[in-house]
Amino acid sequence: MIMYRELEDYIYEYCEKFQTKNELMARKTLMYTSSTTSSSMLSAMRSRGWISEDPLILNMIADGPHELKRRVVERIWREHKDELPLNLCPKCNLIARTPLARQCRFCKHDWHSSDTAAK
Ligand SMILES: [Zn+2]
Repeated sequence: MIMYRELEDYIYEYCEKFQTKNELMARKTLMYTSSTTSSSMLSAMRSRGWISEDPLILNMIADGPHELKRRVVERIWREHKDELPLNLCPKCNLIARTPLARQCRFCKHDWHSSDTAAK
């Protein structure tokens, strides 16, 4: 299996338990900080532990959200490839949009009915 954008999105979005504490903190720090966030808001978030000032974390997000995501997904893929709970289309074997999706966004295959029949 090779990595493609939709699979990358899925892993980043739904495989949180495979992300390290630092990776989750880096994500959160990126999410909560933007150029429009006021400095008083930033210090409030820091004191609550929502965002980090750790140079390690800041270094992880220094290249922006896309780089962070790419690196996180790449690491997860390398280390946990076989344990990821991927919701793959039974027909084309590509990733579904969400863990609960029962319709393929690529080939439009719908497996709602086969799901109940199998159980
Ligand atoms: Zn499909």
